[in-house]
Amino acid sequence: MEKDTVVNIKIEKAETSKINEVDFSNLSFGSVFTDHMFICDFKNGSWQEPTIIPYQKLSMDPSAKVFHYGQAVFEGMKAYKDDQDEVWLFRPDENFHRINKSSARLAMPEFPEEYFFDGLNQLLKLDKQWIKKGFGNSLYIRPFVIATETGVSASPSTEYKFIIICSPAQAYYAGEVRVKIADHYSRSASGGFGFAKAAGNYAGQFYPTSLANKEGFQQVIWTDSNTHEYLEEAGTMNVFFRIGDKLITCPTSDRILDGVTRKSVIQVAKDLGIQVDIRPIKVVEIIEAAKNNQLKEIFGSGTAAVINPILGFGYKGDKWELPKLEDSYASTIKNTILGIQYNTIEDKYGWRVKVD
Ligand code: PMP
Repeated sequence: MEKDTVVNIKIEKAETSKINEVDFSNLSFGSVFTDHMFICDFKNGSWQEPTIIPYQKLSMDPSAKVFHYGQAVFEGMKAYKDDQDEVWLFRPDENFHRINKSSARLAMPEFPEEYFFDGLNQLLKLDKQWIKKGFGNSLYIRPFVIATETGVSASPSTEYKFIIICSPAQAYYAGEVRVKIADHYSRSASGGFGFAKAAGNYAGQFYPTSLANKEGFQQVIWTDSNTHEYLEEAGTMNVFFRIGDKLITCPTSDRILDGVTRKSVIQVAKDLGIQVDIRPIKVVEIIEAAKNNQLKEIFGSGTAAVINPILGFGYKGDKWELPKLEDSYASTIKNTILGIQYNTIEDKYGWRVKVD
């Protein structure tokens, strides 16, 4: 990442690496972490000197505001290694801007750009050997911010920690995904903070998703909270519908996360000559299309899997299955994005950013 300034980051290296204890052929997503973490405290109105230290537990007061009022935001991004051992990020500016947008909505201070990029760069250089080559292998990067001020008064914290931890990941295969279209619960509301990657948005989804799991669905597609008539997004993915030859996805709003993969899918699809309609889409429209055999594909988009095909859906007790396609839009678009991420094809968009 070529940025002009270099921040003075104090680095304390781990004495020994844990890497030899890790079975890279059998990783469960997000359960193993690399040797180092980046950490920066906010106090007295400013961000303090950032540091990189060995991965370790945090010591916090039980009254810290994050534990009581959920002032916490996070990001999810990945680093990829190509055949020449070069490490790449995918559109990292998008994640940087999004975490600050999330923070602003939760009355948390924004993090400086140089700290974010220099911190990430140094951290990835230190833990480079944790990123394995090969399509599907990656390092999942989790930046997050938590409110650390002590005291249980319900007001914004004056102290925070910005932290980055990293976890090696293998090709993400979610298995067969069938979704339940929400007709009662909501993940977000107009005027709320569904667009923010705020911890509470995820906590609120767990219970309705567990009910859907019991009915045999792996995920929920959330609908608008006012009418439940419009399709919005999946648990941790934006969602696309192919009706005939058109690809349709709803516009982003204050209820929906503005996914980096979503905007990449839209761009790549358009450049492949696919007509992409960004407009509100009703549940009845996809049910009609399914009845007329015009609903060809549904897929989710997100950093974890790039694109996750959805095989079927349920709505108010009825169930539909999608056709199995030989050359789906999902696989064509996914292969293009993977090629850009792993440096196997030209990146005409300038999305790939080298770590050096
Ligand atoms: N929606 C939600 C609610 C998410 O948590 C995510 C994952 N960050 C996405 C969509 C997809 O976003 P991205 O493509 O930036 O990973």
